[in-house]
Amino acid sequence: MTIDDTMDNCLDMLSEQYDILHTFDIIQYKSNLLLLQQELVKLHKDVFFPNERIIFTIQEDVYNNSYGILLKSIQSIVNTIDISNFFIIILTTNTNILSEYSNILTNHSSDTRSFEIIQCSGIYNTYNDASIIEFSPHNTILSNVSDYTLNLLNDDCFCVLPWVHTQTAVSGKVYPCCNSLRSLPIGQHTLHKNIVNSDNLKNIRKNMLQHIENKECTNCYIDEKFKKTSLRMTSNKKFAMQIDNVRTTTADGSFNGKLIKWDLRFNNLCNLKCRTCSSATSTAWHKDATRLGYSDEIFKQPDNIIQQHMQYIDDVEQIYFAGGEPLIMDEHYCILDELVKRERVTVELVYNTNFTQLSYKGKSIFDYWKRFDSVSVGASLDAMGNKAEYWRSGTKWNIIEKNRRLMMDECPNISFSIDATVSLVNALHIVDFHRNWTDRGFITADQFNPKFLITPSMFSIIQAPRILKHKIKAKIQKHLEWLIPLDRVGRSTNGYTAILNAIEDNSAFDYDGFWQKINEVDEIRNENLLDVFPELECLK
Ligand code: SF4
Repeated sequence: MTIDDTMDNCLDMLSEQYDILHTFDIIQYKSNLLLLQQELVKLHKDVFFPNERIIFTIQEDVYNNSYGILLKSIQSIVNTIDISNFFIIILTTNTNILSEYSNILTNHSSDTRSFEIIQCSGIYNTYNDASIIEFSPHNTILSNVSDYTLNLLNDDCFCVLPWVHTQTAVSGKVYPCCNSLRSLPIGQHTLHKNIVNSDNLKNIRKNMLQHIENKECTNCYIDEKFKKTSLRMTSNKKFAMQIDNVRTTTADGSFNGKLIKWDLRFNNLCNLKCRTCSSATSTAWHKDATRLGYSDEIFKQPDNIIQQHMQYIDDVEQIYFAGGEPLIMDEHYCILDELVKRERVTVELVYNTNFTQLSYKGKSIFDYWKRFDSVSVGASLDAMGNKAEYWRSGTKWNIIEKNRRLMMDECPNISFSIDATVSLVNALHIVDFHRNWTDRGFITADQFNPKFLITPSMFSIIQAPRILKHKIKAKIQKHLEWLIPLDRVGRSTNGYTAILNAIEDNSAFDYDGFWQKINEVDEIRNENLLDVFPELECLK
């Protein structure tokens, strides 16, 4: 908005219209953007009232690039401390502000909603000053990260995980992480201590330090291509404190470090037989897979896998439990018991669970979770009612809702979110589910993380027929009008935006592959996709 009035008068008008929490004259912070970050951290609240605003006045900016460093830094800082752009007003004398900010919003904001921009009258000064460095989005928690760390954080190829983490999948194959290509494991039943400097992992590290993309990391690059926050990005932020140690990596990629993040899948024990899954990751699929003539495997890790890992349990800082279904696995409880015994309750527990079963062999998972400092539960739910029961067979929807109520009563402070996998089957329904659970108080609007499915490819929205893509696009765009003001950090919005970007892809619908996969399972389970998802009639 352009207002033909002075900055002071505009400030008066804004203070009548909004509840102004603070007004920052950005130029005061040009040499100390960390101070600005610290002051904003003090203003941060979990929930802002709709009428609250923070104002930044900009009457001059530093241009070492094509945009104002101070303007871009404001965007980076508010993103990283989780204040939605919705609550920010930029009041400036910069006559080019709209085009400049539009570039920053598109390329550098994790929140798709724009700041409120007001251009008022007055002089605007620009200058070049190489000593002023823009705020890095990665140094939020760290006021003292080294230049070495900052350089790596700003490198598109670098990911800290190969230095601090591996994933052992249910098959016993070892991967750099859960997002890396399944066709490219770095080991098989490899002992914890031997994998750290295996040739494959050394090569991945070496490539990253030489700015060479790794094939193993293709999925992260795809996410970033569609402007989805990738596991690479979140991991770099999460483990930024470890990055300085990377400098001790030798020329061949060897590294003498500890695996502080574990992702250890003990077997493929699971009580659901989801349509996008197979017997490779769910034992419940065994019977159907046999009837369909698919190769069927029941995986079990070596008996001593727990003992192997227990030797290193004092190194671990975060454990990611997934499956199969971790909440029905003995090994999961065995690790928790050991952590409790060693009083290592600061270890961060992160879950991906189907949320169907919260007690096991007389143990309530809540009794464990209450003892740990940090627990995050991501529930793999991506439809409700009979749609959930069809797509994730074995689900009883009334039990899921009962479990959520129980968790809210017993562990209200434990982080909970829905990790929804969006395929072309549930893409029209997903926003109804999101809205329903939010309106009924099971989650807040921002506790919903949609992520589009890539494989099996015949179910991917990337391959949806054009007519369905149009419908998905219209429905998600409408949903975003509701979501954006409620999505404080923009994470949920980011997921939907990635879906909108992904459906722009021109890949063709695999009609035969889709219907063969649906029909063969429908037949043996005596189900019918279109009875449950009648909105998919257009796929016929
Ligand atoms: S870049 Fe992505 S796929 Fe590669 S190790 Fe990091 S998180 Fe995993």
